[in-house]
Amino acid sequence: MSWMTIGDVGIGRVLESNGPFMSIYDFFPDATPEALAPHRHWLEQGALDANDFLVMPIQSYVVRTPQSTILVDACVGNHKSVKWFPAWDQQDGTSWERNLAALGLGVADIDVVLCTHLHVDHSGWNTRLVDGRWVPTFPNARYVLSQREVTQAEKNWEKYQDPVWRENVEPVIDAGQAVLVADDHEVDACVHLEPTPGHTPGHCAVHIAHRGDEAVVTGDLIHSPIQCHYPHWNFKFDADKPLAAATRGAFLERYGESTTRVLTSHFPLPSTGHIRRAGEAWHFHYDD
Ligand SMILES: [Zn+2]
Repeated sequence: MSWMTIGDVGIGRVLESNGPFMSIYDFFPDATPEALAPHRHWLEQGALDANDFLVMPIQSYVVRTPQSTILVDACVGNHKSVKWFPAWDQQDGTSWERNLAALGLGVADIDVVLCTHLHVDHSGWNTRLVDGRWVPTFPNARYVLSQREVTQAEKNWEKYQDPVWRENVEPVIDAGQAVLVADDHEVDACVHLEPTPGHTPGHCAVHIAHRGDEAVVTGDLIHSPIQCHYPHWNFKFDADKPLAAATRGAFLERYGESTTRVLTSHFPLPSTGHIRRAGEAWHFHYDD
């Protein structure tokens, strides 16, 4: 993929994987055949497979501003423990690093790592396994992490032994490379965090602006283009469902019919486009 531009800021995609993830009825407990029927014609062009599984990429975005080269989200990574999703458990792939190299970048070129939230598919490449130890993947990066999200990741370890803390977060803190920030933190002159809680308590969208052009990385405040039509449909793992739905609705109102380019994490490729009004709700128009 070539670089997209927002003013003089370059944005590239680093794809890790792409494929069927979960039945749409399992993913969205509110989904029904009746609600899907009027949307099947477009859903079946990439978003939904023949078994009604949602097709979802796992990807990072690289944002190259005049000041810094920023990685937004870090996919699943290699050798991670993901007991609830076998395809990711102990994954050992080369595509993510190859796709980073295809942008002309190596791990040493990343100045800043941002995670929209600290789930396993957004924080995996934060670290890699070297001689049996988790070490930061990006030797020159500062990892800018939501304090709220870090606190939650540690709680999830203590309560449920969720390994994200031990594998993806604690090693970066121990290495002295983490900076814990508020959820509206300004990362540089072109990039700031936008609090979008609900999916997780400290979830942040990443807002990019330069020379009057704007873009926003959604992370998991929205997972599928069908939620533009049904903003109240929550993913079954959204932590605070009423808050997730309110955040999603407000996001669609804020960016609907705007010139802001929306860079989604899990909409089918190319995953980027604009939110346009469609009747009472919205529709996602993909970039060409
Ligand atoms: Zn995700």
